Amino acid sequence: MVSCMDLNVNHFLYEVSRNLEQSRLVFEQFNTRSRIISPDEWLVIKRKALRRDNFDCPICLTSVRDDQRSVTLTSCSHIFHDTCLLTFESLAVSSQEQGAHNFCPVCRSSYQKDLLEDFDCRLSSTSETPSYYS
Ligand SMILES: [Zn+2]
Ligand SMILES: [Zn+2]
Repeated sequence: MVSCMDLNVNHFLYEVSRNLEQSRLVFEQFNTRSRIISPDEWLVIKRKALRRDNFDCPICLTSVRDDQRSVTLTSCSHIFHDTCLLTFESLAVSSQEQGAHNFCPVCRSSYQKDLLEDFDCRLSSTSETPSYYS
């Protein structure tokens, strides 16, 4: 998917930061895997996902803002079309026979997920207060 040198460097930096984030997430998940994530924690995860400012579904590579499909947030703060993630889950389970264990197609950590029913509202309310732009 990488087509030029500039992208390569950016991609590398992205990988490095992502790996750091990932090892932290794996660590966190030892604590979160066995219990239900609270609404407050989901809010933190959601803010983190929105702050990343990347709203492309990693599976079909189209923006989750462009259509009416439901949007799912994973506990590793990645955003997907609900239908895309469901499809991915069914393929992953049948190809790896891992049973109930799902892993994120982006960061490969195990996750819990939550439907973002008010995704658009939250997007507009956060974009009105871009504190990091001022
Ligand atoms: Zn999608
Ligand atoms: Zn993830």
